[in-house]
Amino acid sequence: MKIFCIGRNYSDHAKELNNPVPSSPIIFMKPATALLKEGDPFFIPDFSSNIHYELEIVLQICKNGKSVEPAFASGYYDRIGLGIDFTARDLQDKLKDKGHPWELAKAFDHSAALGKFVNRDGLDMTDIRFRLEKNGILVQEGCTRDLIFDFDFLIGYISRYFTLQKGDLIFTGTPAGVGKVEKGDILEGYIGFQKMLEFKIK
Ligand code: ZN
Repeated sequence: MKIFCIGRNYSDHAKELNNPVPSSPIIFMKPATALLKEGDPFFIPDFSSNIHYELEIVLQICKNGKSVEPAFASGYYDRIGLGIDFTARDLQDKLKDKGHPWELAKAFDHSAALGKFVNRDGLDMTDIRFRLEKNGILVQEGCTRDLIFDFDFLIGYISRYFTLQKGDLIFTGTPAGVGKVEKGDILEGYIGFQKMLEFKIK
């Protein structure tokens, strides 16, 4: 099972971190050991003093595919959910400055927190509204209409390089409002009015 993540896929988030808006998707991966399943707490790791939440729509791949045409991409994922791409922002800034890969900052244990999934049937993928509350206060809000690279394009792009396999996950990028977590915080994610995710920070 592979976990793909997309960097800077909402221009308001790219701008808040002073990053340029990309002309092609920024792809990175997390290993299976990065998964944190719903209900388990997230423990702040000792190697970072600035862990950020990034709320993202996650696609679950339902069949194998290579070089998928975007026109057929919608048949390759059957469920969507919410996830948090936990990021050691302090490490990431250092790695970026050196031009080094991001894995230490992005792919560490439990950095890919997954909430519930719903069947995508009947949902308009171009108008999914989602939001994150930290301790009951709204901190992130996004809509898939603001994606720089939409889901079908991403599936086509990723599958040119990596064979997609049933069960793979794609974290599709975060909107603006990313920020630090502290011990004791509670993160709750919603799609529309439906609660999809809850994690306690320890
Ligand atoms: Zn992210």
